[in-house]
Amino acid sequence: MAKASSPASGVDRGRPSVRLRSFAKINLGLEVLGLREDGYHELRTLFQTIDLHDEVVLRPTSGDIRIACDHPLVPSDDSNLAARAADLLRRYARVDRGVTIEIRKRIPVGGGLGGGSSNAASVLIGLDRLWGLGLGPAGLHGLARRLGADVPYFLLGGSALGLGRGDEVYPLRQQLRAHVVLVEPGIHVSTARVFARLDAGLTPRENSNSIFFFVSRELEGTGAFRLLVNDLETAALEEAPALREQATRIRAVLAGAGARLAALSGSGASWFGLFDSPRTAARACRGLAGEGFRARVARTLTLDEYRAAWGWSRVR
Ligand code: ATP
Repeated sequence: MAKASSPASGVDRGRPSVRLRSFAKINLGLEVLGLREDGYHELRTLFQTIDLHDEVVLRPTSGDIRIACDHPLVPSDDSNLAARAADLLRRYARVDRGVTIEIRKRIPVGGGLGGGSSNAASVLIGLDRLWGLGLGPAGLHGLARRLGADVPYFLLGGSALGLGRGDEVYPLRQQLRAHVVLVEPGIHVSTARVFARLDAGLTPRENSNSIFFFVSRELEGTGAFRLLVNDLETAALEEAPALREQATRIRAVLAGAGARLAALSGSGASWFGLFDSPRTAARACRGLAGEGFRARVARTLTLDEYRAAWGWSRVR
């Protein structure tokens, strides 16, 4: 199916190529309620898109699905989630066309920022339009779920509640606007191993409902963010002990600079802080750099901003 490719191979010159932005997410909170009968975890999470993004270029071809990615840790074969998305859609819609997918990675890989899932959703949305299928986010939702639990969220974006495996997604009435400081500790944490570690000591948490309290408070006051937890943090810190010492220092700098929330995203290893002003975010960034951490500033994207960003540009 997917083949590694030089960008121009087999390009169908008669059809335009398109460029899409594929955004990262953070998890403002994440509760693991237990293990389901189907083996997946029952989650409650608050997703939030940020403006850090990969670039995905779709070049129509008359042949196969091909991948070209500039990041050494991202596969260029049919295990790439973007290639799987294209293949799934092509079979589903019985389309007899090919595409070369070029991915310029800016989102740290394996950092709990959802880069692969976002790329997959971008490909679904982009090919739906390029191939004139007219499915839209609602028609693509079933395919997105088959690709991964986080993929459906990227058909929506903004501030959203994720239930079930995280694949039942509901937009929040109140959309968060904040400046974000992202910290990459340079440590890779396997999502599967974090969940396995959690399972080994998992006690049922059906009564945990801090996310519902948070949602009902509609982002009001700084106190609301203190309700949020990430149930994966303890397991992630056990899985990667080097992260533990860093976590303490990262949290201290973010909190010291006035972060409303300082937390691990998903299963890590990226940390983030939420700030009201660009000035305090920049101060936190400088503080982290002074401690030897790679940190960058981003900003949240609301549902409307995310939708608007789906507008694509044509490339030659
Ligand atoms: P997850 O929690 O689903 O593991 P993540 O947000 O921590 O995701 P990703 O950047 O999505 O991390 O990468 C997870 C793994 O998926 C990597 O090991 C990478 O090799 C693989 N992968 C497959 N396709 C892609 C893609 N298009 N972009 C990034 N990684 C991909």
